Amino acid sequence: MAVPAHDQRDYEFAHKYSLPIKEVISGKDSNLSKEAFCEVGKLINSNEFDGIRSDKAKDKIISLFELENIGKKVINYKLRDWGISRQRYWGAPIPFVRCSSCGVVPEKIENLPVELPDDVEITGEGNPLEKHPTWKKCKCPKCGKDANRECDTMDTFVQSSWYFLRYCTANDKEKAFERRDIDYWMSVDQYIGGIEHAILHLLYARFFTKALRDLGYIGVDEPFANLLTQGMVLKDGSKMSKSKGNTVDPDAIIQKYGADTARLFILFAAPPVKELEWNDSAVDGSFKFIRRLYDRSSNIQAQDSIANIDHSSLSKEEKFARKKVYEALLKSKDVYEGSFTFNTLVASCMEALNALNAQLNRAVWSEGYFVLLNILEPIIPHVSWELSEKYFNLKNFEPIEVKEETLVEDTIILAVTINGKKREEIEVDKSLDKDAVLSIAKEKANKWISDKTIIKEIYVPNRLINIVVK
Ligand SMILES: [Zn+2]
Repeated sequence: MAVPAHDQRDYEFAHKYSLPIKEVISGKDSNLSKEAFCEVGKLINSNEFDGIRSDKAKDKIISLFELENIGKKVINYKLRDWGISRQRYWGAPIPFVRCSSCGVVPEKIENLPVELPDDVEITGEGNPLEKHPTWKKCKCPKCGKDANRECDTMDTFVQSSWYFLRYCTANDKEKAFERRDIDYWMSVDQYIGGIEHAILHLLYARFFTKALRDLGYIGVDEPFANLLTQGMVLKDGSKMSKSKGNTVDPDAIIQKYGADTARLFILFAAPPVKELEWNDSAVDGSFKFIRRLYDRSSNIQAQDSIANIDHSSLSKEEKFARKKVYEALLKSKDVYEGSFTFNTLVASCMEALNALNAQLNRAVWSEGYFVLLNILEPIIPHVSWELSEKYFNLKNFEPIEVKEETLVEDTIILAVTINGKKREEIEVDKSLDKDAVLSIAKEKANKWISDKTIIKEIYVPNRLINIVVK
């Protein structure tokens, strides 16, 4: 570190080779004639940094380096030494052989992979591979004499550090992976996992990736572009886990309601980063929404492209239904491309279905389903697929553009104030002129002005009307 006054190893090195020991941090417990001073203190012999506490001075010195363009702040990670072998049955075998003449010898390539036996007895005591009657007996790959297989297996971390590379070349029988495939598929765009894997596993996976990159097997630098740490599933307030015996079997839900309901419930119950409390009655609620979506589809007219609708000719309820449908579509782009708050998207679709249900225009119904089934397809694929096939020939699974005119509010709510005090609110068509708006306002506020004399009428467009009376 080259700070012999403040690092014990440097201090000892400097003493041994009679190098100068320059004090740059002073503290009342400092005794440089005996040892290095490694606590926080005040800087000395440091020009403009003199007098600053050493912990604060670090940031200031780094800033100066960055300003002068002679250095920059970096974060260094340290990977600890890591034992890869375990005395367990699970985990991949370590493909080495112990020979009394040759020592430890790697298994021949043509004999790979070394596979685990299917007939082990797991008693909870000792290493089941060691105890297996025949598995470990083999021939030495080098001299051909009787030898023993290595009975330790690799920690599962070894496999989880590179399994994503294998996914890119899943069918190759000869190689673990092919660089051409890795360079095409990697990095992983979105990684999803529990928080318990977020630190060590990611560090090991990055280490493997960088080592394989340096060895020329792959071209990517980083394995994962984005990480989402999902929340846990809770049941009656505690973590759902096999060891606690409080798991809910999804098969039972799928049996009773279908897979779409199970999916919808999970995505609707909570955003994925939050904990999810399992709730049987909410499962039923999700089923009812799907049921309703299915039943109301009788209002649709079959068509191969999205309906063309003259928005200006529609009633208030029809316009509102379209607005809700396109708001959901707008939201879906945000949710699927990064926010992953599927619960809010499902809520938007429910609102849109309610709004559709409050009007009778079949073109609006059809357009609404054209869009909603597109949005819901990743969430409830079976029902969405069935209805889309039946009514739209699946043409609604292409990207759909938001029709901006549906999102424009054509009415506005204005405050009506009398002598500066808010008395009423009116909702008026945006296209109305000043006189029309004032006349509606005066009618609505009649009881506040009928026995008074109007002195002044002020209309602030899009905001308020003020009537001054005496
Ligand atoms: Zn041998």
